Amino acid sequence: MKKYILLSIIIILLSGCNNSRIDEPKQEKNISTKHQENIKVPENKTKPIEQINNETFEATLNIPAENKELKKYLPILMFHYIKDVPSDSPDQLGYKLSFSPDKLEQFLVFFKENNIETLTFWDLKDIIENKKPFPKKAIILTFDDGYIDHYQNAFRILKKHNMKGVFFIVSNMADNDPNYATWEQIKEMSENGQEIASHTVSHLDLATLSDEKIKYELETSKKTIEDKIDKPVISLCYPAGKYNDRVIKVAKENYLFARTTEPGKYFSLSERYQIPTVRMFPTTGLASLKIWFDVSEN
Ligand SMILES: [Zn+2]
Repeated sequence: MKKYILLSIIIILLSGCNNSRIDEPKQEKNISTKHQENIKVPENKTKPIEQINNETFEATLNIPAENKELKKYLPILMFHYIKDVPSDSPDQLGYKLSFSPDKLEQFLVFFKENNIETLTFWDLKDIIENKKPFPKKAIILTFDDGYIDHYQNAFRILKKHNMKGVFFIVSNMADNDPNYATWEQIKEMSENGQEIASHTVSHLDLATLSDEKIKYELETSKKTIEDKIDKPVISLCYPAGKYNDRVIKVAKENYLFARTTEPGKYFSLSERYQIPTVRMFPTTGLASLKIWFDVSEN
């Protein structure tokens, strides 16, 4: 593996495209406006690839024949900000992407009361490999973009209730912007059972990038995060839910799972690079959860 990495570095250096790979062109700095996010990625803050970890983690999925067609009812919730933003806030975008910490806590209490287990993609890997049974009722909580309130609120609440979530980190943002969790905080979350996953290096619309840039966004974010948390990264979330066949190809080479923004509540193994999700709105309440888990009101 080390030989391969060394070879890759040499190839990159010889190809003379190292700088162009690292310094993204200016016009690509802003996030696609089609997605309701506005992440400004700092310029020239990326570590040169040769300074990133020398060790890489390889995660493989061993699928027993009987699980090849595995399909499970598994709502995967998609959260953005975990903070209170008033509904009449001038920042309507911020409001629409927000979810109240108190309500998140209510959700966790509901999961506990109804024996709904919070899983990570690591658990899903174990389930697929028959190392863990699929719980009677399960859910995955995903938090996109790595905001500071994920550490301050989501993680604090999850930890209090001994539950787990998946945090998709934009690797260029940590330690570069006070609105995002720092590497130290991310490592702490990882060490406390949370899954740290990739949301690429710079949150660009992957479908519009060259093959080389797609590779850079997916590989470098994985390596950077692995270097910081000292654990493998097996899951990816496509920024703004944008991907195509070229993106999926690179995702398959680097990850075991990839979440989209397409709506759906089933996980199927054959489509693990196009995993659907359930978008959380500030108004989404317990009533929805009760319907999804067939819990009668009384
Ligand atoms: Zn995002």
